[in-house]
Amino acid sequence: MSDAGRRDSGGPQEEAAQDNGAVMKSTASDGAEKMACSQDVSAATPPCNAAAAAVQPQPQPQQLAVGTIDRPSAQRRIVKNVQSVIPRNRLELLKWNGWGYKDSMFELKGDLLCFTGKRYPIGNQTLPYFTEWAINKLGIDVNRRNRAQPLPKPADFPKPRVETAFLSELKGHRIAHSVSGLDRLVRAHGHTLHDMFVLREGAFDRIPDVVAWPECHDDVVKIVELAAKFNVVVIPFGGGTSVSGAVSCPTKEHRTILSLDTSQMNRILWIDHGNLVACCESGIVGQDLERALQAQGYTTGHEPDSYEFSSLGGWVATRASGMKKNTYGNIEELLVSVRFVTPTGVLEKRTQVPRMSCGPDFNHIVLGSEGTLGVITEATIKIRPLPPCKKYGSIVFPDFESGVKCLREIARQRLQPSSIRLMDNEQFKFGQTLRPTPGYLGLIFDGLKRMYITKIKGFNIDSMCVATLVFEGEKKDIEYHEKKINAIAANFNGIPAGETNGERGYMLTFVIAYIRDLALEFNVVAESFETSVPWDRTITLCKNVKHRIGEECKSLGIEHYFISCRVTQTYDVGSCVYFYFGFNWTTLPETSDPLSVYERLEEMARDEILASGGSLSHHHGVGKLRAKWFCGQVSPLGVQLYSATKRQLDPKNIFACGNLVHIPSSSL
Ligand SMILES: Cc1cc2nc3c(=O)[nH]c(=O)nc-3n(C[C@H](O)[C@H](O)[C@H](O)COP(=O)(O)OP(=O)(O)OC[C@H]3O[C@@H](n4cnc5c(N)ncnc54)[C@H](O)[C@@H]3O)c2cc1C
Repeated sequence: MSDAGRRDSGGPQEEAAQDNGAVMKSTASDGAEKMACSQDVSAATPPCNAAAAAVQPQPQPQQLAVGTIDRPSAQRRIVKNVQSVIPRNRLELLKWNGWGYKDSMFELKGDLLCFTGKRYPIGNQTLPYFTEWAINKLGIDVNRRNRAQPLPKPADFPKPRVETAFLSELKGHRIAHSVSGLDRLVRAHGHTLHDMFVLREGAFDRIPDVVAWPECHDDVVKIVELAAKFNVVVIPFGGGTSVSGAVSCPTKEHRTILSLDTSQMNRILWIDHGNLVACCESGIVGQDLERALQAQGYTTGHEPDSYEFSSLGGWVATRASGMKKNTYGNIEELLVSVRFVTPTGVLEKRTQVPRMSCGPDFNHIVLGSEGTLGVITEATIKIRPLPPCKKYGSIVFPDFESGVKCLREIARQRLQPSSIRLMDNEQFKFGQTLRPTPGYLGLIFDGLKRMYITKIKGFNIDSMCVATLVFEGEKKDIEYHEKKINAIAANFNGIPAGETNGERGYMLTFVIAYIRDLALEFNVVAESFETSVPWDRTITLCKNVKHRIGEECKSLGIEHYFISCRVTQTYDVGSCVYFYFGFNWTTLPETSDPLSVYERLEEMARDEILASGGSLSHHHGVGKLRAKWFCGQVSPLGVQLYSATKRQLDPKNIFACGNLVHIPSSSL
């Protein structure tokens, strides 16, 4: 391993700014509330090893010169190295071939399911209802385990194709890097079914040749310059939670591929209390960002289900959506400005204002660029004071249609709480199998509550479904809000089912991501996919996709499968729908490869989604997985416009990850 090692961290002042998560406030008397003096671009961000210098008072220019960026003076005084939960050597904490923390997983002990570890509320609990469901629904044979292959040995990895001169120059710039097989493997994938299946059973056709860990904007500028000089491909890597194949290497790429891991760029550069914005380096992951902001009484409110591990830069690059977008907005609404390093220069706005009418908004060149045009190094985002009160809720509906109509009405009246989600019956029943022993938490399926819903209200257990809600704000506002929502729900035969069911639903959101690893062990391949769709087509789209999957499974002889959906986001004009699909592949003919069969079925489901009026993606992005439909979504002229942008920003195709649309270097 060749590794220039992490540089000195900048002296005593910077150390004083480290407090394991909290952002240290400046002791300077003019504080963060005092606004807006201007600084020139080169001085805008403290260099990575110069936080000490950054806390020294700086001479202030008298007036804003052309080509300077207007930023609050406070930025120089609250540089903060956030101690990340995730170590640079990710495998110290995270699984190498599955989701999340090493100590957290679903495990089948005999025929009893349990969840290990103490990180989640479900930890160290047995879940006695799951196995019977898995046997009946998915045809699981608890005695037929499909164990994953062991961690590859150093000799198993392909040799890195990288010029020594390139590595020497990286070293000359004191940029940490590695050519170790394991470091490269960890950054060769995201979290698609394909990625996990290959890790467990095979080998990737191509992995990066070298991994580099820049520590600040200037390091990224140097890497991109070097990449252009040596004709090296750069793939930005944030949290690696991509579910679109976006961080994987194009298999036919013969040039050196460098994975640019942003994890060491995770400082909060400044917080502007007066304007409620914070400028952060792009590698900071959601849980670190929230912990540090909350210590200051703030939140971004951005909570994608992957937020424990996904990064700010990744959110911007994929146009991410968080579950509480109704209160805080999706990432495009949270983003104020961004610093974007491309091979032809740095793209950034010259002002930090709430809105401007100044031609097309170039933030939108960066949002959704999926690593194809450059590297996001810093982003200024909106922050909000922490809400004084948070409350969960749940509503049971007799069927999915009633639930969707209710959500539509709530959206029509613009009464959505921070989050509102509706599970279909399949998902509702599945969620109930993950409950612990009866009595605990008083869940919908237990005792009196079940009797009231089924016997007295006459709901059918095989059609009912549940919506879960999160309210944030002032207590009295929440009470009023909840009353109004319950009144609307009553018009659609919805019955409030309590806070506990709601809270549990959101807790399962984070835990459920772990279940695929168990499924793979018991010969079930599974994945989720999502779309956005107008209201008037939401129910039809859900039915069509389920029907199509059912028909295709039948024709392939797949006896046991699970297809379910939920509405996860609502808007004025439509909703976001998430599908979960998995099947037991043991009944496939021996010659069939389960992964290819799954991918074919997912492709058919996507065709069905598009034919039913849905989009290619609401928030997962295009990546390589959905690139074949990109042109159909944005039109041929749209592709030309994108290609022209690519030609302008990256004429040598350094960012050649091949997401969105494949553009050969020769045609740039
Ligand atoms: C269990 C699970 C739940 C998920 N839930 C959600 C959800 O609720 N909402 C949602 O929106 N998404 C969700 N996702 C998808 C994924 O988490 C998002 O796409 C996320 O934004 C990716 O961030 P990341 O830091 O992990 O990026 P990565 O996976 O590292 O990269 C994704 C893409 O962004 C590019 N990129 C990353 N950092 C930068 C940078 N600094 N500059 C330029 N390009 C960059 C990469 O090159 C790549 O093209 C989920 C994924 C999983 C596995």
